[in-house]
Amino acid sequence: MVRIALDAGHGQDTYEQRNAKGIETNGEVFEEHQFNASVVSFLKEFLEYNGFSVLLTQPLYGKEVSLKERTDLANRTDVDLFWSVHANASNDPYTRGSCCFYWHSSDEGKRLAYLFAKHMQHSGIHLHGDGVHASKIGEWTNFHVIRETKMVAILTENGFMTNEEDLALMKTSEYRRKVARNHAQAISEYFGHTYRNPEQQWESIASWKQEAVEWLYEEGLLEGEEWKQKVNDPLPLWAQAIVFKRLYDRLNG
Ligand SMILES: [Zn+2]
Repeated sequence: MVRIALDAGHGQDTYEQRNAKGIETNGEVFEEHQFNASVVSFLKEFLEYNGFSVLLTQPLYGKEVSLKERTDLANRTDVDLFWSVHANASNDPYTRGSCCFYWHSSDEGKRLAYLFAKHMQHSGIHLHGDGVHASKIGEWTNFHVIRETKMVAILTENGFMTNEEDLALMKTSEYRRKVARNHAQAISEYFGHTYRNPEQQWESIASWKQEAVEWLYEEGLLEGEEWKQKVNDPLPLWAQAIVFKRLYDRLNG
């Protein structure tokens, strides 16, 4: 079975601790990790549906894991592919689009990177430049997770939080799912697997319902990915009790 390490950039506590990896607009905070975790949770589901095995190097909506721990885990587990999911930021508010990075000397990384760019572009997502950058020592592209992983590795930046149009897209559950689908299609094509679409169940669920559930995760009121696939199902009393308890504790400091 092909094993994929999915690496959701940063952690739930990153923005609060460093006042970085997120953006505040009109009093509303958009944290990068929450976007990354959301894309990875869809991606994990899509890959598993397609018969891949998935290892998470960063717990979704959990505390930040160091870069070394992430690559150590992937190397130790000997996964077949490492994929890091991020969102970008720039001082220029007009800079927008998605792109990815691969290690400059890796032909396989390059092939994977171009597959990612192809699927993103075909689905109508704006690319930043041609969407592909080679990572090198001594340059700004010298990313730890690309350099220190032994297997083929890629890091994707799925839009600029600092661009109004990209940010509006990134807030929607539909865009997150689309990004995840492109990632899954690129991975499938890379391994010569015919992609099967598991999204019928998502298409039948209104996006405002999905976004309401996403909010529970982002606030830490709901945990465990299995609930994400039960948006239209009733929540058992015990689970409701946990959500209420967390809310109560939060309100009481
Ligand atoms: Zn990032």
